[in-house]
Amino acid sequence: MRIQCYSRLESNKSYSDPPLAQFHKSTTLPVRAEHGKYRLLAGLSVSGTLKLLAAGLAWAACSAVAAEPMIQIQPDASAVAAVAASTPVYRHARKSGNASIVREQLDYRNVAPASGAAAALAGPAPAATNYFGNRYPGDLSYHGGPVVKAMTSYAIFVNPTVACPVNTCWGNPLQFMSDLGVSDFIHIVDQYVGSTSNNRYKVSSVNFAAGTLPILLTDNDILSLVYAVATLTTNVGYGYQYHVFLPPGTDVCFDTTYTVCYSPGLPNTFYFCAYHGSVDFVGLGHVLYSVEPYQNVPGCDITGPIPNGAVADATNNVLSHEIFETITDPDGNAWWNSRDNGIYGEEIGDECSFLKFTATAGGFDPSLFKVGNKVYAAQPEYSNNGHTCATSM
Ligand SMILES: [Zn+2]
Repeated sequence: MRIQCYSRLESNKSYSDPPLAQFHKSTTLPVRAEHGKYRLLAGLSVSGTLKLLAAGLAWAACSAVAAEPMIQIQPDASAVAAVAASTPVYRHARKSGNASIVREQLDYRNVAPASGAAAALAGPAPAATNYFGNRYPGDLSYHGGPVVKAMTSYAIFVNPTVACPVNTCWGNPLQFMSDLGVSDFIHIVDQYVGSTSNNRYKVSSVNFAAGTLPILLTDNDILSLVYAVATLTTNVGYGYQYHVFLPPGTDVCFDTTYTVCYSPGLPNTFYFCAYHGSVDFVGLGHVLYSVEPYQNVPGCDITGPIPNGAVADATNNVLSHEIFETITDPDGNAWWNSRDNGIYGEEIGDECSFLKFTATAGGFDPSLFKVGNKVYAAQPEYSNNGHTCATSM
């Protein structure tokens, strides 16, 4: 593991329309060679038994010297080996708008029974687990697994460059996640997780830049990165989530058959825009993560309103989808629709992204919501209380 601490320098370069991915299965993968514009603050090579100690020192150095600490990280062979020995638990993707795709193609479940470790942050077992009874068709059912009552999010920015700087290349997801956590919007989850207190969903003040990674990734590549970062933070379990942001032109597929992918340049495999999931890492524990490819592409972008610009609003729209779904269904065995009415298997965000499910009719994707005076655009989320897609309790 190589760890370096950087302070982000301002870049006045803006990013124009992203290039669509030009890869094909059989081609050799090009690798991005550029690096972002950072000022090195501290750096060290880490190996062997000193890894954790040194990582802690680097962590402390980064936290001490940088107003917006950013740790550069590169998964090594040990991370790859750890992922190979680990067990993916759940993957759940938000479908792209490009094709007719059924939910079964977007989900992977290898769900173990809820363990004792989940209990601390797991939600209450609702009195009624009425899967098929007289309910509104969009209502979510509870399936007994853990939920996320509170958590801290980490951002991992992949292959940042001068043209695509950390955070701002995606709009401002760090600010968005921070604002979402203190919004009325986030309280829609209260009814599902059994907590009503404020400020439960936070963002770490230390985040990560990763490189140099290929422009075609698999979920195992993502997991190697998440493993490397989680090894450094040592924060695992239902109180943390790692969000991996991919730059324009970088695609990701579920596996090495490259058939179910985010691939805007290759419509045949363009199944999803983003996904969330969980994994049991050997020696580390249960980890929640999400993957946010570049959203301002046809099939994932939003058509308006766009109060913060097309890039930021497209990112926020899908990022909020993944966060809400992680909170209410981190392992695929908590809250989802189990009625066989055409939306079987859909989670809190799925029901309100393309299919605008409401008690009466109408609805908007995205909708506007406010945090203080700041206006954001994001899709609504499903509220059992209101039997509708909503942006507040
Ligand atoms: Zn979803």
